[in-house]
Amino acid sequence: MIRIAIAGAAGRMGRTLVEAVANHPETRLGVALERPGSEFLGADAGTLAGLAANGVLLVDDLAAVADAFDVLIDFTAPAATIANARVCAAHHKALVIGTTGFDAMQKAQLDAATTGLPLCMASNFSTGVNVCFKLLELAARVLGEESDIEIYEAHHRHKVDAPSGTALSMGEVVAAALGRDLRQVAVYGREGQTGARDPRTIGFASVRAGDIVGDHTVTFAADGERVEITHKASSRMAFARGAVRAAVWLAGQPDGRYDMQDVLGLRG
Ligand code: NAD
Repeated sequence: MIRIAIAGAAGRMGRTLVEAVANHPETRLGVALERPGSEFLGADAGTLAGLAANGVLLVDDLAAVADAFDVLIDFTAPAATIANARVCAAHHKALVIGTTGFDAMQKAQLDAATTGLPLCMASNFSTGVNVCFKLLELAARVLGEESDIEIYEAHHRHKVDAPSGTALSMGEVVAAALGRDLRQVAVYGREGQTGARDPRTIGFASVRAGDIVGDHTVTFAADGERVEITHKASSRMAFARGAVRAAVWLAGQPDGRYDMQDVLGLRG
């Protein structure tokens, strides 16, 4: 049995992860972590997730429970994830990161903290989105030069970063397939006298509304036809199942940085 620690165990993804860990035949919950000061500290992680009590109570000090887990799954916030990664490195624990919204400095801090451990990080752990990444690569290669490329994403009203990490990953896949640098060609939202569209740009549009779990559409619009590649998540369980699958896979890997394409065998 692989013992899993979940950071952010009282959060939207955290509760779903507790259920996904309980459902997987090779995993059991070892640790449930929340932020210091959380009203949920001391609560039973199973009960919080809407399941039977499992006796794993929420704690706020990862280092103190390092002996009780093999892999940490972290869906929290950038600063918390960096701090947790340092604890994992100090205790040589495998780490699955789903947190999004890292700025350039935080990315560098995370890279520095995770050099000596097995790390699987993905902006989206759903199998469907990872298949979409492959479809996007193909569409970009064949249609990209003759098409205007626009990425639309929609999420629930509580999401704190935009565009979504998944939309940015989709942009990176498309840009890489076309030999473009996303930092040079991305256009985030449009307003006022924008002028005609520069054909090399990749546009992003974000909607925040209601309880939308996560919609993404990449449009390749040429003269006379357009291709749209769409993914719609209807439950967080799609991400949680993928993250637990990644944790099981990662437990058998040497130190290094991986993503969901590696877990699913889609690399190359
Ligand atoms: P949320 O706000 O519901 O949950 C985050 C939880 O982390 C909260 O309960 C918060 O108290 C807790 N937390 C904060 N600091 C902490 C710390 N130091 N230690 C332990 N816990 C701490 O948010 P959410 O909707 O569950 O999303 C969490 C993150 O996961 C976001 O960055 C989101 O974009 C990302 N996400 C990624 C994927 C993916 O597939 N990669 C899918 C969904 C969400």
